[in-house]
Amino acid sequence: MSVQNLTDMSLDEIYKLAHKVMRAAGCDEANAAAIADTVMRAERDGSTSHGLFRIPGYVGSIKSGKVTADANPKIAQTLPSVLKVDGQMGYAPLALQAGLPQLAEAAHKTGIAVMSIVNSFHFAALWPETEYLAEQGLVGLACTAFKPSVAPFGAKQAFFGTNPLSFAFPNPGSSPYVFDMATSRLAKGDVQIAARDGHELPADTGLDAAGNPSTDPNEVLKGVLLPFGGYKGSAIATMVELLCAGVTGDNFSVEAGREDNNDGGPAKGGELVIAISPELISSGDWKAHVAGFFTEMKGLDGIRLAGERRHKNRLDTGPRQINTALIETIYSLL
Ligand code: NDP
Repeated sequence: MSVQNLTDMSLDEIYKLAHKVMRAAGCDEANAAAIADTVMRAERDGSTSHGLFRIPGYVGSIKSGKVTADANPKIAQTLPSVLKVDGQMGYAPLALQAGLPQLAEAAHKTGIAVMSIVNSFHFAALWPETEYLAEQGLVGLACTAFKPSVAPFGAKQAFFGTNPLSFAFPNPGSSPYVFDMATSRLAKGDVQIAARDGHELPADTGLDAAGNPSTDPNEVLKGVLLPFGGYKGSAIATMVELLCAGVTGDNFSVEAGREDNNDGGPAKGGELVIAISPELISSGDWKAHVAGFFTEMKGLDGIRLAGERRHKNRLDTGPRQINTALIETIYSLL
């Protein structure tokens, strides 16, 4: 196992470094600020595979000409409950920042609203969007696809992306319940980090290039990942493909893989975000009902709720320990 050299960075320093590098890469102020905020919040919450670790990929995809650094997302509300966001070939954080308040407003009026994002590049976690909705008293559901790196159950060939799915529900009087997970056994970023740090992978994470199960991250990176939970996870990954590509009209993972230039950043794809208002739909006192459910669930031995780890990390406003080699790589991009 390799020993990591770590450097302390305050959240402000993390934001400023990300912002400076994205500005240097050609982003306008709005895009640089949206990406830096996403990266800083990921480090703040301990979502390290979507923090500074992603900056070289963000920059690489601008340098290769794939992503438009100063894209100005366009929003069309085609029905009272339907918002269509065209990311204009830019990164997702600004498209989300622009669309989410309108999505929340629509759901508060209609009970349920949906937002599709197309022509955009998603390189982050999904909890920022679903958690935002839960903080407005709404249920949030979001999913996106990627390039093929996961074999459907029974196959040995990559077809799905790691296809994350996030769901958030307001937890009255407490921080929202939020899960955000890749539908692969492990997210690819975690496999890359395991390779970098010399860690072995859990069983059932992936197959090597010859199609044999392997716990060596370097071998799995040459082969394919597997869905979580066998055929059940494979079904959820299929659902994600259909929601974020079948519904939005943007790329399925296989299509994204065929058109991507493999510059190390994300592929162009769609995202679907759904917001539901329990206030407008429930036939009872949903707040008391839900609070009772979470209280009873948390009373069980050995339980923690999804999202709690991040929310606990967030209370620590002190410095975060960042891989020193990563910081050097990021400075070399300036
Ligand atoms: P994890 O397996 O680390 O966690 C998945 C979820 O389970 C989290 O919500 C986590 O909550 C929760 N959880 C973990 N342990 C427990 C536990 N013991 N009890 C209850 N809940 C628990 O996430 P993944 O590695 O699958 O995904 C990591 C990130 O990668 C996600 O944010 C995802 O959006 C992102 N991703 C993005 C992609 C993209 O294309 N943009 C592609 C693939 C993944 P908590 O956060 O509190 O730990």
